[in-house]
Amino acid sequence: MRQAEPSSDLPRNILAKPLVIPRDQHPVSRKDIAEPALKVLYRLHNAGYEAFLVGGCVRDLLLGIQPKDFDVATSAKPEEVQKLFRNCRLVGRRFRLAHIMFGREIIEVATFRGHHSDSEENAQAQKHAKSDNEGMLLRDNVYGSIEEDAQRRDFTVNALYYNIADFSIHDFANGVRDIENGVLRMIGDAETRYREDPVRMLRAIRFATKLSMRMDASVADPIRQHAALLQNIPAARLFEESLKLFTAGKALANFEMLSDYHLFQQLFPQLKNYLKAPEESPYQMLRQTFADTDARLAKGLSITPAYLFAALLWWPLQARMEELMFESGLPPVDAMNIAAADVIGRQMQSIAVPKRFTIPAREIWQLQQRLERAKGKRVKSLLGHPRFRAAYDFLLLRAATATPLEQKKLNELAQFWTKQQEHTPAAPASDEVRPAKRRGRRGGRRRKKPGSSSSS
Ligand code: ATP
Ligand code: MG
Repeated sequence: MRQAEPSSDLPRNILAKPLVIPRDQHPVSRKDIAEPALKVLYRLHNAGYEAFLVGGCVRDLLLGIQPKDFDVATSAKPEEVQKLFRNCRLVGRRFRLAHIMFGREIIEVATFRGHHSDSEENAQAQKHAKSDNEGMLLRDNVYGSIEEDAQRRDFTVNALYYNIADFSIHDFANGVRDIENGVLRMIGDAETRYREDPVRMLRAIRFATKLSMRMDASVADPIRQHAALLQNIPAARLFEESLKLFTAGKALANFEMLSDYHLFQQLFPQLKNYLKAPEESPYQMLRQTFADTDARLAKGLSITPAYLFAALLWWPLQARMEELMFESGLPPVDAMNIAAADVIGRQMQSIAVPKRFTIPAREIWQLQQRLERAKGKRVKSLLGHPRFRAAYDFLLLRAATATPLEQKKLNELAQFWTKQQEHTPAAPASDEVRPAKRRGRRGGRRRKKPGSSSSS
């Protein structure tokens, strides 16, 4: 259990009094705020509650970035929020939240969150706030003041509140100054905050690349030493986080920085050794995969986690196949089937990739063998395979990152399939997936299923 903090002792970077920045001294305008979010804010306000936009959306608006989602913090308790909105659902066990639904869009409304401590008067609260012996928060459902709410946020730039009452911004930790200076600072002691929630290490990297900010030394320095704490995080939550890292336009930068901070190795233990040989094909393929993903997104093309995971795990698949063929003389097709199950099974221990992505990933792998063998009638039927396009793109990726010896063979194969498509246009991919707009967060819960879309 964590020790009670003396109430006079504010966490590092928290201001004794918040800065209140009036409307005429900041650029955040209501026309940049999504209509549903404004509706929620006004209704809470008109019912007599405090209501703020909070966190990443205020940060992004200040930076001139279109926010991914709008989050609301309020003095109203979840049940009180529910009474105000017909289209409201209460979700979450770890911390109860209200989701207000506007068609496909969801506005998340959280009641100000308080401290948890061992002190007498908090005995009640303690029943609801638990931490394990590594200092990781398991459950906390204690409401508090806006000041306390701000102290529980991760980075100073994420502790900004936009007040619907007078359109001012309340800055509890000099977040506006840090935005201006482009530096990412933790609220409180970074090491303690990483122990409470190791995902904050991934968030630090993600915000550094997304917002072009530099991590303050106090944020960066403890990461390598604490990277292994990611092993305590549920694999489903790490899947959500890995989508945010690798399907939002900054995949290559995140890959490089995560590797540097020993975090990538935690997410993909099977790729650890490849990182040590950047000149070789497996590393080249990783880099190229991330670069291609970013390039596709920049062009407005869709991407699919199935292709991404197929590419990332291709070399571990090859290694396992070789082992199996050597040990038991299995033919390649059978060896691939078993190796695929093994490699995906190992990956699942850190990142729980849903079946709707592992199944097509395996198809992309199997198609590599079929592309190598197809003759006559088979050629035409492969061209019509719903995963042909992804498999062909993957073949090009293999060719581009192969050793000179392999490259010749793969290039010829790629040219063959390029020619075949000139005669017969490929069928469109049927069920590939664009990354979701809104995904799981603190508790790793998901708000919306990734929507389906087409083409890889
Ligand atoms: P983005 O939406 O670009 O991923 P964000 O900062 O909005 O970034 P969310 O996951 O949407 O990230 O979370 C909203 C806010 O909730 C954050 O800005 C932060 O204040 C708080 N928050 C989220 N996750 C954590 C965490 N693990 N620890 C502390 N605070 C968190
Ligand atoms: Mg957000």
